Amino acid sequence: MAQGTLYIVSAPSGAGKSSLIQALLKTQPLYDTQVSISHTTRGVRPGEAHGEHYFFVSKSEFETMIATDDFLEHAEVFGNYYGTSRAAIEQVLATGVDVFLDIDWQGAQQIRQKMPAARSIFVLPPSTEELDRRLRGRGQDSEEVIARRMQQAVAEMSHYAEYDYLIVNDDFDLALSDLKTIIRAERLRMGRQKSRHDALISKLLAV
Ligand code: 5GP
Repeated sequence: MAQGTLYIVSAPSGAGKSSLIQALLKTQPLYDTQVSISHTTRGVRPGEAHGEHYFFVSKSEFETMIATDDFLEHAEVFGNYYGTSRAAIEQVLATGVDVFLDIDWQGAQQIRQKMPAARSIFVLPPSTEELDRRLRGRGQDSEEVIARRMQQAVAEMSHYAEYDYLIVNDDFDLALSDLKTIIRAERLRMGRQKSRHDALISKLLAV
């Protein structure tokens, strides 16, 4: 069986990356596509569940996992640790399932080094004004907090050119269709198709 493809998706917060990945997963069966659940030391937000959005661990648990080489990549993002566990990814990819990593540019650089076959996608917001609007959220944060979020967003966006694909999330449905197109094209690559259609190809060539 051909290995699944590992997809890295990065974006500044406010670009709609998580919504895009969630919408994509709804259109794909679990045996085709899954999203990796990261470990993090940040606090649980309302509506989040352990083992569903993240594995929420303490700083010392995270550091033990680093010491025992459990992470394929890990990084400090906005003062908290985030990491992708090696075991989860490698076993799933081996069964032919495509796996999505929702990670930042630092994690993306580490994965590219270790797994050159991974494909990476960057998602941009359509304009500075729209990004500002999305970063303001429900309008409960101070100008200082919003300015810091904008700075962090610019820092993340400055890495866009390191990625294989670029999606501008203006119209959500169009951006989702772009994402699906990337996956479809990757699945049509010769390596994947050859092993999927092995029996057919053997028969056709035996005539
Ligand atoms: P949040 O705390 O808002 O869920 O995520 C903050 C940032 O951390 C996002 O850019 C997200 O993509 C990134 N992130 C989430 N999980 C991981 C991970 O396992 N590794 C790395 N490097 N970044 C992650």
